[in-house]
Amino acid sequence: MQSPDSYWIATGPDWTGNGAALPKRTGVCVLGAGVMGSTLAYWLSRAGLRPLVLERNPGPAMGSSGRNAGRLIQGGNAQHALAIEKFGHAEALAVYRATLVNRDLVREVIAREGLEATRFPTAKLDLAVSEDEALELERTAEALRADGIAAEWLDLPASREVFGTDLPDTIIGGLYRPDQDAVHSVAYVRGMAAAAERGGAEFACGVTVTSVEPATGGGWLVTTDAGHVLADQVVVALNAWTPRLLPELAPVITPVRGQLVQTAPVPFRIPQWGLDRGLVYGGQAPDGSLLLGGLRNTVPGRDEGVELPEGSNTPAFSPELAGRLAEALPSLLPEATGVPVVRAWSGVMAFTPDRCPLVGAWPGAHGLWVMAAFNGHGMPYSQVMPEQLAERIRGGRGDGIPAAFDPARFL
Ligand SMILES: Cc1cc2nc3c(=O)[nH]c(=O)nc-3n(C[C@H](O)[C@H](O)[C@H](O)COP(=O)(O)OP(=O)(O)OC[C@H]3O[C@@H](n4cnc5c(N)ncnc54)[C@H](O)[C@@H]3O)c2cc1C
Repeated sequence: MQSPDSYWIATGPDWTGNGAALPKRTGVCVLGAGVMGSTLAYWLSRAGLRPLVLERNPGPAMGSSGRNAGRLIQGGNAQHALAIEKFGHAEALAVYRATLVNRDLVREVIAREGLEATRFPTAKLDLAVSEDEALELERTAEALRADGIAAEWLDLPASREVFGTDLPDTIIGGLYRPDQDAVHSVAYVRGMAAAAERGGAEFACGVTVTSVEPATGGGWLVTTDAGHVLADQVVVALNAWTPRLLPELAPVITPVRGQLVQTAPVPFRIPQWGLDRGLVYGGQAPDGSLLLGGLRNTVPGRDEGVELPEGSNTPAFSPELAGRLAEALPSLLPEATGVPVVRAWSGVMAFTPDRCPLVGAWPGAHGLWVMAAFNGHGMPYSQVMPEQLAERIRGGRGDGIPAAFDPARFL
């Protein structure tokens, strides 16, 4: 059952980038070619800059961006009603709206760059298994509607109807949100990287960055295993690997293992779904196969603070956890009984204490930026945060980055 590659890496387009050599100098140097670094390079190149992207893998999307479930779930990490209690209404709405702006940008960019085959429309159903959770989701449906966002609380029969297949009797109901997107993660990210290259960005892959330091005379000295680059500005987009270059973030960013199993294709279509406050979640790949992830609650320490071996794209894969996910499948989706699990893989997520990402300037250091730690939830920000950060890098306001994401809150 174990696979060295995710479905997306195995079925995505090869990377045939320009194989840039390391220049001595550059304007903006982006570290990491995941979805964040690749899309940032796209927005910088659209503004006429020629960013240099450094990536240690042979191509983009081989870290978490090529190992996720491909779901662009709108809203922040907390359900909207809870986010309002935690951050206040204005900030919670700013976060939710950012993901709606993202939805529109994703569709616009995909159409402009001819990447239509990488996106597929879907919906989201968050299912409750306890009365507490049902209440949270009902309140969230109300709060979203009050903010003009389509959402509905559905009882179990209505949930079964939108789910398109059976659901177990243990479910009370669900929060339904239409008009969501999923992507083929690797095709999407490599498509963005290729579009960035067409716009003038350069991708130097197979290059490991070892340090970033202020350069004498201004700018930043980026040291790699292939030599040095002097950059006017540097953006660190290294997900859970970020603290290796910015050790001040070691107490802030926790690496967390995520695992997925994938079945053979099934004849029915389901929306993206989450259960038990997202502890188990799933979706469907374009070929009809089911993706099932989560169950971190069955692992000691919930897989938080896992080891990230040097040079590896993922913490160690757990066959036991994959087995538990496979076993859980028929009880979660009765119609999937007997459908074989054909692939499983792991990846790393980067969590922060407040479950908000780090996007913005490094305080007190001109020209150093960070865009990392998306708390297992990066895809719904995958255009809007890079687009807004590109604006700030060019000296603009980038007002679309919620204040709650400012890295300064921890530094
Ligand atoms: C199992 C799983 C399921 C998930 N499902 C979803 C989902 O459905 N929806 C969602 O929104 N999110 C999901 N996520 C989270 C999502 O994948 C991340 O939020 C997102 O990919 C983060 O993008 P990134 O560009 O910051 O990181 P990455 O894609 O990890 O990119 C960081 C890059 O930095 C490179 N790098 C690291 N160190 C160095 C170095 N020293 N020098 C050069 N390069 C370096 C890495 O090789 C990597 O390519 C999931 C994650 C996992 C693990």
